[in-house]
Amino acid sequence: MNINKNYQNVSESYLFSTIAKKVNEFAAANPDKKIIRLGIGDVTLPLCKVVVNALKNAAEEMGVQETFRGYGPEQGYDFLKTKIQSYYASHGVELDSDEIFISDGAKSDLGNILDLFAVDNTVMVPDPVYPVYVDTNTMAGRKIVYIDANAENNFLPLPDDSVKADIIYLCSPNNPTGAVYNKEQLKVWVDYANKNNAVILFDSAYECFITDENLPRSIYEIEGAKTCAIEFCSLSKMAGFTGTRCGYTVVPKALVSGDVILNKMWLRRQTTKFNGVPYIIQRGAEAVFTEEGQVEIQENLNYYKENAKIISDTLKKHNIWHIGGKHSPYIWLKCPNNMTSWEFFDYLLNNVQIVGTPGAGFGKNGEGYFRLTSFGSRENTLEAVKRLDDFLS
Ligand code: PLP
Repeated sequence: MNINKNYQNVSESYLFSTIAKKVNEFAAANPDKKIIRLGIGDVTLPLCKVVVNALKNAAEEMGVQETFRGYGPEQGYDFLKTKIQSYYASHGVELDSDEIFISDGAKSDLGNILDLFAVDNTVMVPDPVYPVYVDTNTMAGRKIVYIDANAENNFLPLPDDSVKADIIYLCSPNNPTGAVYNKEQLKVWVDYANKNNAVILFDSAYECFITDENLPRSIYEIEGAKTCAIEFCSLSKMAGFTGTRCGYTVVPKALVSGDVILNKMWLRRQTTKFNGVPYIIQRGAEAVFTEEGQVEIQENLNYYKENAKIISDTLKKHNIWHIGGKHSPYIWLKCPNNMTSWEFFDYLLNNVQIVGTPGAGFGKNGEGYFRLTSFGSRENTLEAVKRLDDFLS
């Protein structure tokens, strides 16, 4: 057999293993010091009660002859898709039920969607960004061009007409920078994609953190997006489903290439290679979109947002340049005194025992920057900012 040699071009991810190694070494040498982790991208609050009850009820149903379910529809149960339709309608987006596909999370679909596209497409990826976009396309052997996100453009790059791309990734609110595109900026991308017959793969995994009603939560709030964009969303950060696993992908029927409808292609792909998300999980996800569920998840989101504010306020006090944190769980800061990302990592670990994520791990433009997250406990977040405040004072 011959292997897919493209895998040899996927760069090793040393980011989190190097962090773990440095933290373990420090902990072994300083057993009396408490280390606070503000680098994690995983949630820490438990699932909401209404979700847990729905999961329990669904598990009970599976043990009763009359309510037992076997294979479900590959694209998801109607009871969940109807709820997601209403969720979109609440921010002004009309979707047909068969434009929504339930998945086991955004990461799988971000990788799987590439089945629909030929290898000889040029892929445009912002730098810095969530590394999955680059790695999945490298595995497939596609050509990647980068678009710079930096302080000059507030980490929100816009298209450059001199660069041609066929597949464009946008992540808003962004991981790692927390930057959010406004409607005018997204319109520029939508117009560019429609003009160039390109597709936008819009990752809105963090849309639930947006609090400003004028900022778009979905790319379909932008006129023209249904003919050029696929949207990926997730219950991971929205409702603490990182370990429970559920998300959804929207493929509008208006998105076509010649006379081929991409929605039909994706349906064919999913019915061939995927057997759906477990019934029990979809009932848990359905509960997230009930009135009660929305209130409960909002409490958790507010908890993380307050953590972000606590971190941001301390950085402001010490004049440390940063963005994010407002409509995102991520705070993206400029390392003080022109330190590199890893120098600042060591500096924080050695002096105040705070662990963050070096920006250089998300692309070349991340060098000199650092990501802190609001997913820690309130107690740890307060302790971390107190240490930082004392040290910087
Ligand atoms: N997209 C972005 C930008 C992310 O940061 C993450 C996870 O951290 C994902 C997608 C993956 O989400 P899921 O847990 O639904 O696979």
